[in-house]
Amino acid sequence: MKILIKGGRVVNPANGFDSVCDVYIVDGVVQKIGENLTESADKVIDAAGKIVAPGLIDMHVHLREPGLEYKEDIKSGTLAAAQGGFTSVCCMPNTVPVLDNAPLIEYVKNKAAQVGSVNVYPVGAVSKGQKGEQLAEIGDMKEAGAVAISDDGRPVSNPELMRHAMEYADMFNMLVISHCEDLSLVAGGSMNEGIVSTRLGLKGIPNAAEEVQIARDIILAKETGKRIHIAHVSTAGGVEIIRQAKKQGILVTAETCPHYFTLTEEAVEGFNTNAKMNPPLRTQKDVDAIIAGLCDGTLDAIVTDHAPHHRDEKEVEFAVAANGIVGLETSLCLGITYLVKKNLLTLSELLAKMSCNPANILGLNKGKLEEQADADIVIFSMDELYTVDKETFASKSKNTPYHGWEVYGRVDCTICGGKVVYKR
Ligand SMILES: [Zn+2]
Ligand SMILES: [Zn+2]
Repeated sequence: MKILIKGGRVVNPANGFDSVCDVYIVDGVVQKIGENLTESADKVIDAAGKIVAPGLIDMHVHLREPGLEYKEDIKSGTLAAAQGGFTSVCCMPNTVPVLDNAPLIEYVKNKAAQVGSVNVYPVGAVSKGQKGEQLAEIGDMKEAGAVAISDDGRPVSNPELMRHAMEYADMFNMLVISHCEDLSLVAGGSMNEGIVSTRLGLKGIPNAAEEVQIARDIILAKETGKRIHIAHVSTAGGVEIIRQAKKQGILVTAETCPHYFTLTEEAVEGFNTNAKMNPPLRTQKDVDAIIAGLCDGTLDAIVTDHAPHHRDEKEVEFAVAANGIVGLETSLCLGITYLVKKNLLTLSELLAKMSCNPANILGLNKGKLEEQADADIVIFSMDELYTVDKETFASKSKNTPYHGWEVYGRVDCTICGGKVVYKR
């Protein structure tokens, strides 16, 4: 199969390339990038006026399979990914059962190969059953195809276990992704602790609940000399701790999500359960700090933390509603609209945080649009304004706070391994 993408603005953040030209794909590989290519093709895509970029990589999604297919499954979740411009996703292990052994990692890999629209890289659990007691079989999971370990959904509360996880993971060249949350400080809270929680009469979660564990993990990374990746940073203090650690040369990387740079705790007003997530939406001061962290490189990656939930889990009292929102179909447009269009990040800087940076953190040979690279490509419009409509989402779940928002950055076409997996 030969595809010729004509006349788009080709942006490759991995090497700084940014120029209007053509991209020629043969059998799943980018064969040639250049001006006025005349190679014969089975399919010609007119990309004039569009951005042609490496397929996006989301290193933090919940595909909910096995066990929670009423929320999402590998088929629907990877369709949502393709629709959002992603060609690779890392799925978290808090499924039922938990992905804590090689056969389950293999199950996810095989299922994704059969029914998936994009590449799926499973993340194995840190601890057996995510119970925080005994380490899972890290080496076996690596062999089966896991790219990282995490107890995401829950923190690893025991520091000694976390230290061992970092040491073991390093032996297998695996990343540890830490969901930072001190449960004693969370103490049953359901939103950010502050003026809004007081007004609504909801129990709050202080910033410290996240920050004390970020600090702990960074201390462990310093002592062991091993790597740690901090998931979904939401607080100003968290950004600052990571910034200082990086200055000291500690091997820490970090991610944040679009909701932490587009929304504040105010979104919870009216007890909107689609504004309930973990960590919770914070204040404008935190949002400003997250953006500053993205701008100065403290925050390496933008991830969705795509967390599909059934209506029945959201259409309940706020305090008991499930945490999280779907994000695969709104991540690129929110980055374009709230970071690039506001001149906070360049287009290439935004795309780096959604392609080559996560690839580098995970050690994946992905996230670049250059000759001989895998033909994982997204084509999107920068300037067309459109309205987010949750009814068009491919995800089984519709729990988004962005329904009805006017945004830029509309995906036209997603190509994965040289195959068109989404076309508008
Ligand atoms: Zn988490
Ligand atoms: Zn998560």
